[in-house]
Amino acid sequence: MAILMDGKQTAEAIRLQIADEVVELKEKGKKIPHLAAILVGHDGASLTYVTHKVKDCEQVGFKSTLLRFDADITEDFLLDQIDKVNDNHDIDGLIVQLPLPEHISVEKVTSRILPQKDVDGFHPSNVGKMVKSQPTFISATPFGIVKLLEHYKIDTKGKHCVVIGRSDIVGTPMSILLSRKTYPGDCTVTLCHSRTPDIAAFTRSADIIVAALGIPEFLKGDMVKEGAVVIDVGITRVPDSSKKSGYSLTGDVKFDEVSPKCSYITPVPGGVGPMTRASLLLNTLLASKKIV
Ligand code: NAP
Repeated sequence: MAILMDGKQTAEAIRLQIADEVVELKEKGKKIPHLAAILVGHDGASLTYVTHKVKDCEQVGFKSTLLRFDADITEDFLLDQIDKVNDNHDIDGLIVQLPLPEHISVEKVTSRILPQKDVDGFHPSNVGKMVKSQPTFISATPFGIVKLLEHYKIDTKGKHCVVIGRSDIVGTPMSILLSRKTYPGDCTVTLCHSRTPDIAAFTRSADIIVAALGIPEFLKGDMVKEGAVVIDVGITRVPDSSKKSGYSLTGDVKFDEVSPKCSYITPVPGGVGPMTRASLLLNTLLASKKIV
């Protein structure tokens, strides 16, 4: 039976460490890390995510600023607001919650954030640094997965890792991180996506699988070999009348079939999600220390 990789507990340990560091900074009269978040529009899920991020900051003692704008603001207006945050010396990190309304270019927005305040790690220069294994902000979800692999001392050297999904924020950075010449890394990585025929042929030979495609229960028991490590990134709201909310959060892995075959597996919820949130705090701390 698999060992559960408990993201909730691991993230809590990271948060406690950060909170201790903030207490020390306060005692020494040093600057307190400060995260700013921009939310455009009134999408319920986006509001929930941003609210969590602000709450997380409060919990560890960071300062936070939430800037909310209507969905009909112009792209130029948003870029001006980003410039203002860039110029505000008290703010260490800035995130702009995605998705943005269609008339606003995500590329322009992410490129406008000063790289040294880009705690989401989406700026092209930070992505380039990650590819070149230079110190930088690694986007929160891949960073959280790296921390989880470290925490559970998962052996990655020489392993075959299959990543399913090639998004800019999860699959692609994950494939790069695991192929880097370091720990966790040194994997032989196969990156699968919607145009990959017969994904099972790849996953069946994988020592490590990162499922990040957003299709509930895509990875079935017969697609996984005995002893594999399975990281489930997917979070999809699936209608569930037994829940008060009317839905349950479902991962990309058919947990009941896959977990008996694994050595380690992340649950959903309680796996990658909490690690993503803790990683944003880690990046904000790094930004405030001007390490990156
Ligand atoms: P995304 O931008 O929609 O990308 C999905 C990727 O999956 C794409 O590369 C797509 O391929 C690929 N894909 C789609 N259908 C496929 C199929 N049938 N077979 C193989 N590949 C397929 O999604 P994302 O932002 O990476 O997120 C993925 C999932 O992770 C979602 O459920 C999301 O909610 C979740 N997520 C969780 C966290 C967390 O903190 N736990 C954070 C971020 C995302 P193409 O490139 O060919 O279209």
